[in-house]
Amino acid sequence: MESTRVNENFLNELRAIVGAEYVISHPADLLVYEYDGSIDMRLPQAVVLPASTQEVSQVMALAHRYGVPLAGRGSGTGLSGGAIAPPGGMQIAFTRMNRILGVDTVNRTATVEPGVINLDLDLHANKFGLRYAPDPSSQKACSLGGNIAENAGGPHCLAYGATTNHVLGLEVVLEDGAVVNLGNLAREAPGYDLRGVFVGSEGTFGVATKIVVRLLPLPETVKTFLGIFPDIDSACTAVSAIIGYGIVPAALEMIDALSIRAVQNVMDAGYPLDAGAVLLVELEGLKEEVSETSQEVEAALWEAGAAQVRVAEAAQERARLWLGRKNAFGAFGSIAPNYFLVDGVVPRTRLTEVLQRVSEVSQKYGMPIANVFHAGDGNLHPIMLYDGREPGAHEKALAAGGEILRVCVEFGGTLSGEHGIGLEKKEYMPLVYTEADLAAMQRVRDAFAPSGRLNPGKIFPDGQPPHKPPPQRAAPGMVA
Ligand SMILES: Cc1cc2nc3c(=O)[nH]c(=O)nc-3n(C[C@H](O)[C@H](O)[C@H](O)COP(=O)(O)OP(=O)(O)OC[C@H]3O[C@@H](n4cnc5c(N)ncnc54)[C@H](O)[C@@H]3O)c2cc1C
Repeated sequence: MESTRVNENFLNELRAIVGAEYVISHPADLLVYEYDGSIDMRLPQAVVLPASTQEVSQVMALAHRYGVPLAGRGSGTGLSGGAIAPPGGMQIAFTRMNRILGVDTVNRTATVEPGVINLDLDLHANKFGLRYAPDPSSQKACSLGGNIAENAGGPHCLAYGATTNHVLGLEVVLEDGAVVNLGNLAREAPGYDLRGVFVGSEGTFGVATKIVVRLLPLPETVKTFLGIFPDIDSACTAVSAIIGYGIVPAALEMIDALSIRAVQNVMDAGYPLDAGAVLLVELEGLKEEVSETSQEVEAALWEAGAAQVRVAEAAQERARLWLGRKNAFGAFGSIAPNYFLVDGVVPRTRLTEVLQRVSEVSQKYGMPIANVFHAGDGNLHPIMLYDGREPGAHEKALAAGGEILRVCVEFGGTLSGEHGIGLEKKEYMPLVYTEADLAAMQRVRDAFAPSGRLNPGKIFPDGQPPHKPPPQRAAPGMVA
């Protein structure tokens, strides 16, 4: 039994702060909070759903007083176990703090609460001719608070940069309930860049209660290419060729044959079933600029060995191509009941060699591995497909994932491009950081949250294996 400080007195005090209906403590009700989008799981002792910064501050101060460890929770789409409750701890969920507080069209900023869904912000900004650029494939479901914590990326982050490049200011509640402001609306903030330090801190420094983001104007023209390739090697060559032309497309995404099959099983995204891989390349900007660059992109695709190049300019056609890509993870449910996704990064010039090694790992473990990923960033997402009910399958998927991470590091890459370290990859941190590096990070964490109660057991190696799902229960396949 996990020891817990979440006792009846604590729950009663929580209820007094947020209202009884916003404190979840019945085991059956807690089940939905047991996991995120990854394969780790643990039942929280309680989940609290505050509605304002003031309530968050009171909840944090209370948890501090009782010594209750906690994890923030946005939408629970995270892929590294970040929102999983710590042992004996609770979750503070931001579902009710989902208001867009304002859009400043002159300064092109928006102020939002952490529970706002990424796509909702973008669609709202579109009404003013603006947009929120970071677009994780989970954007229909994931929250801005989760995006901040993981420094989320997305297909269009190739041209515009990840979340950190779009966050100007944050209101944060620290472990003792203190409310602090990090960053500001000016381009340069004097003093330490604590905004930058906070973004990507995976919920270990404090919880964000208000976020000011930069918005960008909508582009005049958008053009999407579907490069159809006989094999993955030629598609990888095209990635280097496009960048070699000096072009930075708005997005450059790879979908391999197995992923094409999964997507086409559940919807017609227009990906040919006989292709070895397809590349989605998107250009955007001024009409003349896009028209000129289009010729170079087409040339690069043909030179690399494309069997066919299709161009989509109408919004509906483009949306269909993107729907396939963005729904790919969920579509893997049509091939296997479970998946385990690894988020490694490699220099994009090494993609062909690394994908060859991924294929060798697949053969070694006798486990299909699909690849659908942000090719322009060299951000791989090898996806182990398996049936968690088969004895040993889950462990095999984890072992295969570990080998792939080692390959990424061997080729000069790293452990995560966007999903964070969380529970899942903490034991691999020594592959890329020395003890001194990790100690320096730990000191920063201690400065923000000296008690270590915010998302403990994440990021830093501690020899504890991540929680594994019980054998009789299949980990849920995630549909974004
Ligand atoms: C189908 C699918 C596709 C995906 N595609 C992408 C992609 O393209 N790019 C990408 O980057 N990710 C992607 N992800 C991963 C995931 O969606 C992102 O990591 C996202 O940012 C998580 O947001 P969330 O609201 O679900 O956060 P959660 O999973 O709820 O939490 C994630 C982390 O954020 C912390 N947290 C949550 N709210 C707060 C807060 N207010 N303050 C402080 N910490 C907080 C949690 O404690 C946890 O550590 C994908 C996931 C799925 C399932």
